[in-house]
Amino acid sequence: MLTTCRLSRSSMPLWNKNVNCLESKRCPKCGYDDEIIVSAMMRVSLTDDGTDPYGDNVHQNDVEYNDDSYAKCPECEYEGKLKEWNIKEEKHE
Ligand SMILES: [Zn+2]
Repeated sequence: MLTTCRLSRSSMPLWNKNVNCLESKRCPKCGYDDEIIVSAMMRVSLTDDGTDPYGDNVHQNDVEYNDDSYAKCPECEYEGKLKEWNIKEEKHE
């Protein structure tokens, strides 16, 4: 199952932290939750000059990734799969 998160250039209100793409996600090692480096798939314009994700003919540049995508924490450099970033609900039995 692929997750699609639309690139948005509009800024979210500051108090609205992590309710969209990063909802319920944080680094499993250090807990950093502002940013995750993810290896994702997206459409780019490939020309002789190189690649351009914002080329005029790229009408849809959704970024696709899933729980098994490579992910890296920019804060502590932890590397793993994106699903490791999911905040697990602690179960007390
Ligand atoms: Zn981290």
